[in-house]
Amino acid sequence: MLSSRIHKISAGAACLVAAFTGATVSSAAGADSTTDVPTYQEFRAATYVDVDGAYVVNGDEAVSGNGELKKFYERLVGPESTPTEGLVVNTVNGVDDRWSAAQVANLTYCVSTKFGTRHDDIVAAMSAGAGLWEAASSKIDFVYVPAQDGKCTTRNNTVLFSVEPVATTQYIARAFFPSTPKRQRNVLVDDSIWTSGTWEPGDILGHELGHTLGFRHEHTRPESGTCFEDNNWRPLTPYDSSSIMHYPQCNGGSADLAFQASDAEGARALYGS
Ligand SMILES: [Zn+2]
Repeated sequence: MLSSRIHKISAGAACLVAAFTGATVSSAAGADSTTDVPTYQEFRAATYVDVDGAYVVNGDEAVSGNGELKKFYERLVGPESTPTEGLVVNTVNGVDDRWSAAQVANLTYCVSTKFGTRHDDIVAAMSAGAGLWEAASSKIDFVYVPAQDGKCTTRNNTVLFSVEPVATTQYIARAFFPSTPKRQRNVLVDDSIWTSGTWEPGDILGHELGHTLGFRHEHTRPESGTCFEDNNWRPLTPYDSSSIMHYPQCNGGSADLAFQASDAEGARALYGS
């Protein structure tokens, strides 16, 4: 997620997105000379490419490969819907991006031993972040599988996802959505998670795990007045500017990333109580 550097990245992305949606775009093919809408080539060139080749959009969300980035771009410049209403779930082609009841009760993960001396701290922060959502809904269960820590990569099919270290200036941590293919299904964590001011590591990973459950950034909702991303989501609760999924720097109502009652309510709305 975010850092002071990411704030700049996110702000830049938000501006780019605002330019997209503020323009009259007649086709997904994008730009003509009368709008500020970048062509796909311009958009792709401006998008950060991560260590694993994934494109990073909306600050901390991975998109795998050129084909998926093109689809993301086309959704961004496509016709707008008009959502009216804390927590919002990602949608893919209008369908909720969520786990099955069986899968959400068994969200297995490993924590790479490559975290070295910080390994146990990451395990603890993951447990804290997972515990936020698990306390909200008895249907949600993140299951730590320490036996897989020594081979904890996206290629490990014993677990649903891996938690791995990364060294980047682009974000603090990065996550995925339920619809993300296995080969890109990891949570990447930079060392800056330990020096992120008022943001507790457990809350930062709680935010990332919110993405893994299907939840989008709360600030993409029109009520935030800024940082719009796209309209491919469905509201689960009334808007909450203090949601753990709302960047504080996007007109957020809270300086930290504390978990809110609305987040719990949204999780129950999607997965049951
Ligand atoms: Zn995020």
